[in-house]
Amino acid sequence: MPASSAVTVLGLGPMGRALAGAFLAAGLRTTVWNRTPGKDGELLARGAIGARSAAEAVGASELVVVCVVNYDASDAVLRQDAVTGALKGRTVVNLTADTPARARDTAAWAAAHGIRYLDGAIMTPATTIGAPDAVFLHSGPEDLYREHRPVLDVLGGTHTHLGEDIGRAAAYDVALLDIFWTAMSGYAHALAVARAEGITARELAPFAQGIGAILPPLFDELASDVDDGTYFGELNPITSAVSSMAHIVEASESHGIDAGVMRAAEGQARRVIGLGHGTDGFIRVAELLGHRSQAG
Ligand code: NDP
Repeated sequence: MPASSAVTVLGLGPMGRALAGAFLAAGLRTTVWNRTPGKDGELLARGAIGARSAAEAVGASELVVVCVVNYDASDAVLRQDAVTGALKGRTVVNLTADTPARARDTAAWAAAHGIRYLDGAIMTPATTIGAPDAVFLHSGPEDLYREHRPVLDVLGGTHTHLGEDIGRAAAYDVALLDIFWTAMSGYAHALAVARAEGITARELAPFAQGIGAILPPLFDELASDVDDGTYFGELNPITSAVSSMAHIVEASESHGIDAGVMRAAEGQARRVIGLGHGTDGFIRVAELLGHRSQAG
């Protein structure tokens, strides 16, 4: 990477600050901007250049990294005439999280304005940035990704280019966060049910870790079932799963705790049984949901 490499970071929330901090730590000339002033103090003290406007920030570097709350915010920054004009011929790497459709829409806008565009998703917390356990997913033109990879590498961790389809990083992001937020809402619900039974969160936590540890190997095993359409249920048929889910609904509601999420999950599993697949494994629900979406 040339010592003169420069990068601009637009958006200085916790993640934007972490990204800018990693660029600074690597000795890059780092220009920063945030909609609300005052978020750049620590970065400026470490040598960052504070821009007075997004257009000025964009003009400072060939590579512009965007990390704001969502694509409404990213559009609000990038699609101002002065910023769009300043971006012409430069590269935007948008590490803001949103949907695949928003990424594709932004790529089309960028192409129409002569802006080179890569999309990306960050799959780990801000505290991992610059460290080995950070995980970045990228999508878009491979030559552009290769060109900027040396700068992106200073953010640490693992970088994976998922292909030329610009929406692919966001598609992975949405799917992976689906797992995360469903698990988090399950944990919040579990803690409420446990508390209603006089069990503290600290008492449950070690056993919760045990339940969590069951999942990683299952992800691989069940992925094969879904891709191959096998759905083996010999050891744990979906009929057994719905019985367990019904207990959770009953115990929750006996304490007046909303069980809507579990009721929805149980309902999906019961539909699979109703279609005659009661001896299959739980993950056949993925096929049911997929067919429903394809049917519109
Ligand atoms: P937030 O998601 O809270 O986003 C805050 C940033 O968005 C601030 O810079 C804020 O500016 C800006 N913003 C919000 N609305 C607007 C707008 N209308 N116009 C301009 N700027 C706007 O903070 P994070 O830094 O944590 O996250 C940034 C992105 O990184 C998100 O997409 C998030 O999902 C993703 N991410 C974050 C992780 C984390 O650990 N924090 C982990 C993985 C991904 P202002 O200060 O002016 O409000």
